[in-house]
Amino acid sequence: MMAQYLEIKEAHADALLFYRMGDFYEMFFEDAVNAAEALDIALTKRGKHDGEDIPMCGVPVHSAEGYLLTLIRKGFRVAVCEQMESPAEAKKRGSKSVVKRDVVRLVTPGTLTEDALLEARRHNFLAAYAEVRDEAALAWADISTGAFHVMPLTSVRLSPELARLAPSELIVADGSEPALRELTADLGISLTPVGRASFDSTAAEKRICKLFHVGALDAFGSFGRAEVSAMGALIDYLEITQKGKLPLLQTPLKESEDRTVQIDAATRRNLELTRSLSGGRSGSLLSVVDRTVTPGGARLLEQRLSSPSRNLEVIHNRLDAVSFAIDDGPAAADLRDALRKTPDLDRALSRLSLDRGGPRDLAAIRNGLAQALAIAEICDDRDLPVLLATAVQNLTGFDELLALLDDALVADPPLLARDGGFIAPGFDAELDVARTLRDEGRSVIAGFQQKYIEHTGIASLKIKHNNVLGYFIETTATHAAKMLNPPLSETYIHRQTTANQVRFTTVELSEIETRILNAGNLALEIEKRLYTRLSGAILDRAARLNQAARGLAELDLTIGLADLARGENWCRPTVDGSRAFAITGGRHPVVEHALRQQGGDAFVANDCDLSAGTGAAIWLLTGPNMAGKSTFLRQNALIALLAQMGSYVPADTAHIGLVSQLFSRVGASDDLARGRSTFMVEMVETAAILNQADERALVILDEIGRGTATYDGLSIAWATLEHLNTSNRCRALFATHYHELTALAGKLEGVDNATVAVKEWEGEVIFVHEVHKGAADRSYGVQVAQLAGLPRSVVERARVVLDQLERNEREGGKQKALIDDLPLFSAAPPPPPPAKSSPVADMLENVLPDELTPREALDLIYKLKEAA
Ligand code: ADP
Repeated sequence: MMAQYLEIKEAHADALLFYRMGDFYEMFFEDAVNAAEALDIALTKRGKHDGEDIPMCGVPVHSAEGYLLTLIRKGFRVAVCEQMESPAEAKKRGSKSVVKRDVVRLVTPGTLTEDALLEARRHNFLAAYAEVRDEAALAWADISTGAFHVMPLTSVRLSPELARLAPSELIVADGSEPALRELTADLGISLTPVGRASFDSTAAEKRICKLFHVGALDAFGSFGRAEVSAMGALIDYLEITQKGKLPLLQTPLKESEDRTVQIDAATRRNLELTRSLSGGRSGSLLSVVDRTVTPGGARLLEQRLSSPSRNLEVIHNRLDAVSFAIDDGPAAADLRDALRKTPDLDRALSRLSLDRGGPRDLAAIRNGLAQALAIAEICDDRDLPVLLATAVQNLTGFDELLALLDDALVADPPLLARDGGFIAPGFDAELDVARTLRDEGRSVIAGFQQKYIEHTGIASLKIKHNNVLGYFIETTATHAAKMLNPPLSETYIHRQTTANQVRFTTVELSEIETRILNAGNLALEIEKRLYTRLSGAILDRAARLNQAARGLAELDLTIGLADLARGENWCRPTVDGSRAFAITGGRHPVVEHALRQQGGDAFVANDCDLSAGTGAAIWLLTGPNMAGKSTFLRQNALIALLAQMGSYVPADTAHIGLVSQLFSRVGASDDLARGRSTFMVEMVETAAILNQADERALVILDEIGRGTATYDGLSIAWATLEHLNTSNRCRALFATHYHELTALAGKLEGVDNATVAVKEWEGEVIFVHEVHKGAADRSYGVQVAQLAGLPRSVVERARVVLDQLERNEREGGKQKALIDDLPLFSAAPPPPPPAKSSPVADMLENVLPDELTPREALDLIYKLKEAA
């Protein structure tokens, strides 16, 4: 056995080998050590290899999925090795034969299909990146839904595209992984190098043609070498991991870079589109806009939000659909109820195609189609906008398949096909006969017990069943003697004697048993055959079923967005080819949501107007910390994104000229892992923006230059603003605490000042979160520090320093001299009170107030007054 193990292990050196032994998957040697630690299970040993103990650990087959998930999440790949025959079959080949085993599947992050291992509401993409000469391309697929895409790209676009798609695994050609390691680690993608042969574009083309049964690739569009190579590598990898069983991939859909708004990884992270900065879904834009009720709808929403469109027709069609769903509220509510009952068609289909499905997947298709039909009927007499009309059209045309499944399946089928019991009675005559025989046999046997009791006169006699003997007659040892002797022994054949019982059979009983067994086996056999037939009938229509699933997702998403728009009072944005950017009453959906949950102040809506003619349109935003600058910046970016994904937006009105790229530089934290300071991270991100932003870009920059010395920072911010204005000529929001910059607004055309107003009351600031045109008069930094709970002495000292600094600046004094006079960062305690040398002070020195009578106190005051 060990020889077999080692041979299989050698072929799968890069994976943990789950070696099936009976009811367990066992791991040995280093695999065992690693897995025991990762899974926190006991490490034992078994036998010896080269004189050393062999470490071993194992997980039960029935609960293996959970362990698999943990291992995959921890970055392992797992090769699942099954027994390909029963021990009995092995024995037939020779008494010492080891059971035949083979790896049936390689489990990797990008190739999961089990519901238990997948997040229902998220895609699970496997991606392949190929470079052929000076072309590059990315292909990606979700084998749990069949989606398959490819796009050519320049290598600088790899990072943003990976950030957009967030695949769980990326395959690349051997040797190219070092360059990608940092990027994939940052994005949490598991990187898998494969042999260069997988990427060979000629072989790849053949592979793709074979998979889709076409003679030439032209059928799907025209593809460059790199695209073919990426698609081919992806298919090859699926073949390898699925051991030849290919999932049902849809024909490849070619995407292009200019189809969607370009958003780089940093911007995505900063804007917390699908994940919050802390990593989870909650707190992200996605979490507050998701009102979908099906997993398919949720997946489509995430995809749309990650890839807002740049195509006006697409955007308008989506907005028309949402408007329609808002206006037709009652129908939308009915549709939603029906959608709620719809199972995940895509994932059931994919399991069936990989032969990993069961009767419940057949039932999922049946139930899904039945709901689809009901949904189509609700929409029947309505004048639907084009997007919904197409979606609904895709839901019908399955009458035959639905009728077949309806007739064939019981209402709630069991999990496993091999247990039988999922085909409805009346569907297959042969099956019905076999089942009747099997069931009748059982009742015949029940009748035998009474007959044998009467025949033997032993009232306690029982007919029982176990897996070794099958059916047998059992009696106690005391009564057995009678049966072991003639005449009863002629009928009753002795089988077994245990401590207290003696067991018999009869010819009649064995015959019935064989009949039951045969009938039972035959029934199972027939059910298995029918399973294959039904599954085949479904897979024949796989492409259409995928479309239906897509239609359902589209409806769900549309109705979800309509519900959101109505509930949150959002407006329909006007999106066109202009360079307008005019928002009135804009809100930040996530902050608004959070404020509402906290039950405190309501969110203050704000306007923004960056409408540009031919040049730039930039707002320079000043205001104290905590006033709401970042919130304002982000809310405008989010409104643009929501509009272009085809959603209503959190505002009273919104007019947005198509945005091609979105950049943000908002806050930054040290990236110590990569040895980059806050300042460095900030500059790298700013450089990317200045180098790439085009005239249709929307840029938001928050506090550029904060991480360095004042004058350095100011100069960098200054030059950045000028560059955005004159070279990038884009629409931008630029928040800064350098008040000096506000002077630029008068000088540069297209740059306006805006400020987040605060009120001052008794020396403290009150945030009103209102954005106005104009520059902030001061920064209120000291007051904000006080609010934060800085010690009183520090706040007082800061006021003094600030006062002096400001006075000095007004009087044109040298900052340097002042700083020498007034060490800014001295940790010295506040200055001592002035020396007490006045007569009044001398008099007070000796006074003990506690001991004074009111009369003495009054006298003292007169004396003090005199002395002063
Ligand atoms: P800044 O960037 O100016 O330091 P933030 O944008 O981070 O300020 O806002 C600070 C806090 O003020 C936010 O966390 C939010 O709770 C609140 N806030 C910001 N904008 C608004 C608004 N328009 N209405 C109500 N509260 C707001």
